[in-house]
Amino acid sequence: MPDVLVVGGGPVGLAAAIEARLAGLSVTVVEAREGAIDKACGEGLMPGAVPLLARLGVEPRGFALRGVSYQDGQREANHQFVTGSGLGVRRTTLHTALHNRAVELGTDFVYAKVDSITNTADFVEAAGIRAEWMLACDGLHSTVARLAGLHRPAQGSRRRYGLRRHYRVEPWSDLIEVHWNRLGELYVTPTADGMVGVALLASKNTSFEEALAASPALAAKVSDPVTELRGAGPLRQRTTARVKDRVMLVGDASGYVDAITGEGLRLGFDQARAAVAAITSGSDYERDWARITRDFRLLTSGLAFVATTPLHAAVVPLARALPGLYGRAVEQLAR
Ligand SMILES: Cc1cc2nc3c(=O)[nH]c(=O)nc-3n(C[C@H](O)[C@H](O)[C@H](O)COP(=O)(O)OP(=O)(O)OC[C@H]3O[C@@H](n4cnc5c(N)ncnc54)[C@H](O)[C@@H]3O)c2cc1C
Repeated sequence: MPDVLVVGGGPVGLAAAIEARLAGLSVTVVEAREGAIDKACGEGLMPGAVPLLARLGVEPRGFALRGVSYQDGQREANHQFVTGSGLGVRRTTLHTALHNRAVELGTDFVYAKVDSITNTADFVEAAGIRAEWMLACDGLHSTVARLAGLHRPAQGSRRRYGLRRHYRVEPWSDLIEVHWNRLGELYVTPTADGMVGVALLASKNTSFEEALAASPALAAKVSDPVTELRGAGPLRQRTTARVKDRVMLVGDASGYVDAITGEGLRLGFDQARAAVAAITSGSDYERDWARITRDFRLLTSGLAFVATTPLHAAVVPLARALPGLYGRAVEQLAR
């Protein structure tokens, strides 16, 4: 019986598996899909995510990101990261790098969709595998969170969704551009392979093409799409707790606010570290999860709320008028 059963072999599940193997635990990952898994994502690793990956022995090829630029067509507010560079990395590249490292360290993989779990005081079981602990890393619509009774239905009507597409064009900036317009926010992240990804965050049924056309300067630069549109959402997902008996929720499965601050991967890698530490040293994962996600929950909730109100038009002018405040907020989330 393995020590750890990781459900979901996305970036956070793979990071958790590597973390657990480095701690000397035996690990099986159960993942529904084979191959290099793609997903709707802005693909920007914030500066804090890069060393978290490096300490796992994972250094994917990417495009160095030196800061953030908020733009609204008339003005821009730029902030250069002070804590180091982030990295623009295609999801498939990130997946391959993490998967290779997990295999190298002796992780076992089973390809199956988990649709039931057993969670007792003594063991956990899913996909026919019994283990000491289960790390649920099965993403935004976590089956395990639901089966463990930890999912809390979202409230409110301001649901937001994400869409992304890639374009063949030489990156023109080493800043993550965020174009605010009346239909949503468009994130532009260069990746290493002569491509930029454009991710839209907006309300349900917003047309990607219409939102792109609402930022004409950006639309003029990206005319050669190389991937299909891919979407995710609703983004806000809540959980009642992160631990139940021998199950711990990690990454998006533990709850998510919004992609507006480009934070999911860094938080997920940090949560993976904390969850494995809870197994090996008995630390309190619930408390560590709350600490790791506190700024994200506060700042990202606030910004995502503003983005759904008429106040969104004031964001770029304010960021430009108050560079100290804007810079501090970016740094708080980039750590
Ligand atoms: C539009 C958009 C833009 C974003 N931009 C950024 C950004 O720039 N930077 C950033 O850091 N974050 C960003 N994020 C967030 C980031 O994509 C997520 O936080 C990250 O993917 C979470 O990783 P994860 O491994 O927890 O979940 P996922 O990546 O969703 O992986 C979950 C895995 O579990 C598997 N799975 C699901 N259910 C089952 C099951 N029942 N049985 C077996 N396997 C299962 C899936 O196949 C998948 O491989 C963005 C998100 C969106 C939607």
